[in-house]
Amino acid sequence: MSHIVVVGAGIVGLSAARALLADGRSVTVVDRNPAGDKASFGNAGALGVTEIVPASVPGLIWKVPGWLFDPLGPLSVRPTHFPKLAPWLLRFMRSGSKSEMLRITKALAALNAPIYNDYLPLLDELKLRHELHQVGALWVYETEAAFAADAADRDLRRSYGLVFDELDGDEARRLEPALGKVVVKAVMTPQWSHFNDPKRVVDRLRELMVNRGAKLVSGEALAIEGKNLRMCGGQDIDFDQLVIAAGAWSARLAKTIGDRVLLESERGYNITIPNSGVTLSREVIFAERKFVATPMDMGLRIGGAAEFAGLKAPANYGRSDALAKLAKIYLPDLISTDGTRWMGHRPTTPDTLPVIGFSPRRNDVIHAYGHSHCGLTLGPTTGRLVADMVAERAPTIDLTPFSANRFS
Ligand SMILES: Cc1cc2nc3c(=O)[nH]c(=O)nc-3n(C[C@H](O)[C@H](O)[C@H](O)COP(=O)(O)OP(=O)(O)OC[C@H]3O[C@@H](n4cnc5c(N)ncnc54)[C@H](O)[C@@H]3O)c2cc1C
Repeated sequence: MSHIVVVGAGIVGLSAARALLADGRSVTVVDRNPAGDKASFGNAGALGVTEIVPASVPGLIWKVPGWLFDPLGPLSVRPTHFPKLAPWLLRFMRSGSKSEMLRITKALAALNAPIYNDYLPLLDELKLRHELHQVGALWVYETEAAFAADAADRDLRRSYGLVFDELDGDEARRLEPALGKVVVKAVMTPQWSHFNDPKRVVDRLRELMVNRGAKLVSGEALAIEGKNLRMCGGQDIDFDQLVIAAGAWSARLAKTIGDRVLLESERGYNITIPNSGVTLSREVIFAERKFVATPMDMGLRIGGAAEFAGLKAPANYGRSDALAKLAKIYLPDLISTDGTRWMGHRPTTPDTLPVIGFSPRRNDVIHAYGHSHCGLTLGPTTGRLVADMVAERAPTIDLTPFSANRFS
């Protein structure tokens, strides 16, 4: 029986482990801290099925300076990180042409299409189906102009079968009475859903994998050398095939076999407020300011922001506080005096496409990372695709756009 090593016990690595075990493989999952904090735990908990348009789109570049200079804005770059970020940024800008945007959208639409087919059986196995609320998400706008400016984007997404119901401010408040008068337009996307707590999904999945026979190893993977994963501390692990699913840290490991990928940590922040004074029944997305509020078991989670500062810089939790302050504009009854602040590393490529596929250099190493804002959504689908590759089953979608080859 072939032995597969998966590096990373986030939603992507564990989903790959599950699909590989289902195929009868022997699986070892390696993580420097399997049960420790990670992007897969503290995120906004949504299955964002309409997220098929890349972050870099025509005209975006003109909005960036305004965002960078706004202390409450959705984007920040630490000046010391600019030199490292430059190649990623150049590629990001190149991805913003109309033809690139349409090509990437088509690829992401294909990847997103089977999300529920892949998720619902997993949730049944975890006995957590009742924790997924298939109640849609509501995008709210402060200005008619911003709503109108997004019309072409909505139409593009509709052309892939995604549903966008347009509402006025009063209709939005009938759905979510906590919204203030500032909301003048809204869009309901009924295909979205959200979890009570994404951490519970990942914790349960990790436990299930161990119960099904996966070996869980705590330790830091340093390099791939031949058929050996070199570990910090010397407990190296042999493999027949290896899956890199180490989230925002994946590029380092890929580099050890000569695969160059452009991957950045797009740091996101949130604050989870237990007694917020606000009741929402679905995720609300504040469209112009690019952040969200999700009702969860432990309170209202307000999250967003894109901070480029690398993997090591200390968190700036002022960004969590800034999000709570902004949310008050839309949710006038919000009380944000207490709350747990959090930062997580989204693994983000410049073209928004995750990296899924065999290494261009070796057919025993598989890349599975770079899902950016949608890793929770795409984890189980990616896991199935990984198992299909190992089993040499024909992929259910064209994986060419996701290849690491595009960076070489
Ligand atoms: C604020 C915020 C909100 C978000 N909201 C959503 C949302 O609503 N919906 C959605 O779909 N997505 C959302 N995301 C994105 C999503 O959380 C990520 O895309 C996803 O969690 C990535 O999963 P992963 O398994 O690739 O990485 P991770 O969860 O980061 O797991 C990677 C694991 O690899 C381990 N690792 C790394 N390097 C090594 C090494 N060398 N050796 C051993 N172990 C290693 C780490 O310890 C970690 O446990 C959000 C992210 C943020 C930050």
